Amino acid sequence: MSGKIFFRGRDLTQLSNQMYRRIRGEEIALIFQDPMTRLNPLMRIQDHFLEEIHAHESVSSTEARTRAREALVSMGIHETRIRNYPHEFSGGMRQRIMIALALVLKPSLLIADEPTTSLDVIVEAQILEILQDLKEAYHMSLLLITHNLGIVAEVCDRVAVLYAGKLVELGSVRDIFHKPLHPYTQGLLASVIHLETKELHSIEGSPPDLIAPPSGCRFHPRCSYAQPICTERIPPLVEFEPGHFAACHFGDKFL
Ligand code: SF4
Repeated sequence: MSGKIFFRGRDLTQLSNQMYRRIRGEEIALIFQDPMTRLNPLMRIQDHFLEEIHAHESVSSTEARTRAREALVSMGIHETRIRNYPHEFSGGMRQRIMIALALVLKPSLLIADEPTTSLDVIVEAQILEILQDLKEAYHMSLLLITHNLGIVAEVCDRVAVLYAGKLVELGSVRDIFHKPLHPYTQGLLASVIHLETKELHSIEGSPPDLIAPPSGCRFHPRCSYAQPICTERIPPLVEFEPGHFAACHFGDKFL
């Protein structure tokens, strides 16, 4: 399986450029952290939509314009604003435009990479609500990439925890927050400030050099449970409970 990425039964690493072009946008769409860097400052919002629709579908300009307006309105932005340029919108509105652009082709998977990092907390809450509503409305999956555990707890159903480029734990939100099996996940959860004691723990050490990562378990230089085997053998991803996986030689110790 290594080196392969499957989506709906197809290995994405084996597709032709033409197939990639179809999948990107039509089946898998992406929104980013900073919408301003993704919108062309010299193009009106309408032209972003038209370019995307015409790149994927043979529809008339009239139909493309209608769909563009509908997509914008569905994000709570008045249709007259479609002739504005990106700099004429606030950060939250630009992120809503990015979401509308991502959804105009009705993808089945939306990847959101830190979609609220550059926004204030009120706008962040609005964007998260929109994403959750759209997930239901479009019957699509949402893959959210974030460092914010509060967002994970609020929005996600399943969680994959990565450390140094490797999957170290996978489970439901309940599994991850109530019974973390990997010491890195435990450290992450302990690194959230405690409201009563005001204590803030951190994980000792620094992330490893990915050019020359540590042998065995990549987390071993920072792990207080490390044993000799941890420096010698890469821990496999094991299902310790139904649907709850961890890559730790001693995951059963935390069950
Ligand atoms: S395999 Fe060893 S070093 Fe890695 S997380 Fe588990 S106990 Fe720690």
